Amino acid sequence: MEDCIFCKIASGEIGQLIYEDDLSVAFHDVNPQAPVHILVVPKEHIERLDQTDESHKMLLGHLLIVANRVAKEKGIADNGYRVVLNNGVSAGQSVWHVHVHVLGGREMRWPPG
Ligand code: AMP
Repeated sequence: MEDCIFCKIASGEIGQLIYEDDLSVAFHDVNPQAPVHILVVPKEHIERLDQTDESHKMLLGHLLIVANRVAKEKGIADNGYRVVLNNGVSAGQSVWHVHVHVLGGREMRWPPG
C-alpha cells in the first residue's frame, strides 16, 4: 500500500529493521511505552485483525513466534513481556496495518488503560 507507513518500513524504504523474514519484519516503536517496545508487522498489508480469517492462520501464528523470538533476543523474555494487538479505534489502533506490540523491561499493570 502506497500510503502505509508500515508497508514502507517493511519494504525497507524507510526506518530500520531489527528482524526480517519472508512474512514479517520487526522494528523499534518510535514512541516506546516501555524500555523495550518492538512492533512485529506482517509484510502483507492487512488493515485490522478483524479483516483476517482462516487463510491468515499461519501468518497470525507466525507473528507470535517472531514476537517471542525478538523478546528473547532483547532479553525481556525471562522476566516477562506483554504482547498487545489493538484492533480498531476504541482499542487505540492508530496505524492501519496489523501489528503486534512487544513490551518489556518494566513491571506491567493490569488491566491496561
Ligand atoms: P497502535 O496504536 O496499536 O496502532 O500502534 C501504532 C504504533 O506505531 C504506536 O505505538 C506508534 O508509536 C508506532 N509508530 C507510528 N509510526 C511509527 C514509525 N514510523 N516507526 C515506528 N513506530 C511507529
